[in-house]
Amino acid sequence: MQSFGVRLADPKTGGTSRRGGAGPSDHTPFTIDGATVMIPVHNAPAFESPYLVERPDEAGRSRISRDGVVLADVSFPLRPKFYDRITADGVPYWKIATLHGRDVLATTVLQTCIRYQSRTKTCQFCAIGQSLAAGRTVERKTPTQLAEVARAAVDLDGVKHMVMTTGTPPGRDRGAAILCESAAAVKAAVDLPIQAQCEPPDDDSWFERLADAGVDSLGMHLEVVAPELRRKMMPGKSEVSVKRYFEAFAAAVPVFGRGQVSTYILAGLGDPAESILETCGRLIALGVYPFVVPLVPISGTPLESRKGPAPEFMHAILEPLAAMLVEGGLKASDIKAGCGKCGACSALSTYERRLAS
Ligand code: SF4
Repeated sequence: MQSFGVRLADPKTGGTSRRGGAGPSDHTPFTIDGATVMIPVHNAPAFESPYLVERPDEAGRSRISRDGVVLADVSFPLRPKFYDRITADGVPYWKIATLHGRDVLATTVLQTCIRYQSRTKTCQFCAIGQSLAAGRTVERKTPTQLAEVARAAVDLDGVKHMVMTTGTPPGRDRGAAILCESAAAVKAAVDLPIQAQCEPPDDDSWFERLADAGVDSLGMHLEVVAPELRRKMMPGKSEVSVKRYFEAFAAAVPVFGRGQVSTYILAGLGDPAESILETCGRLIALGVYPFVVPLVPISGTPLESRKGPAPEFMHAILEPLAAMLVEGGLKASDIKAGCGKCGACSALSTYERRLAS
């Protein structure tokens, strides 16, 4: 279903859906069979999806059907209470951070990126500038704003962990410096596990600084594994080589611990399943959790009309990958914070749970 997306009988359904922004987008979270998943609803494949979701009732309850046959009950999270607040300096909290999945607070600390300046450099799948252009977020979330919103999200909505990602600023730290000051401010305000996400900084000493600032888990996202395909899909970001990512993983794991460093790999951009699994094997051996996620083609990006990966393709990766993770002693549930722990953008943790039961 993550490959097809779903059609919404009422397009206003899903008060916590995301359009544009960094990372996976054009989704809404909903819970089906006890698992919260992010399902594409705003992109082209979703408009043609065979799955239809009825308009939910006031408690967020609905049903999903295919060809008129009801398949399951589903529920949408209610609008978080912290969304109704405004910061001391006048910015609505929902422009600072949003609820992801069931209990994750997510923010893009810096909504601009050196990789997003021109079509020739932009990652083909990314929409980091769209939500900013549409006025749905602010460019730079200050440490004070983040601390204020994080505290309210914990107090009012019971969020359990936080994801801080960032566009890549100019400079060799690649965003580590602003993540440090942001994490320190949030940790001073509230006891909330934090995952920071950035490109590998040029200097490995940033890993200690991030940990000292209160970052519990770190994501450095390869996205694509084959060097040639990386250059095509991410002309700017691929300037940081796969070799440098692996050096950075090797330096970061001793700082954060086995399984607390992770990477996104986007399935559906052209890497064959065997290449993805081979890279995952190398990552797991280092203690890095490979979070393999199906591509969600986002409206307004160069890939907007591309189809997401076929369910069979995802199965061919996620089934053996879950076994490799179990064998390597890495579990989504052991991650302290972040996307791998949330798991809503991939069925990987469901495959892991199946193996464990
Ligand atoms: S996996 Fe990451 S991007 Fe996806 S919903 Fe969870 S926190 Fe957000």
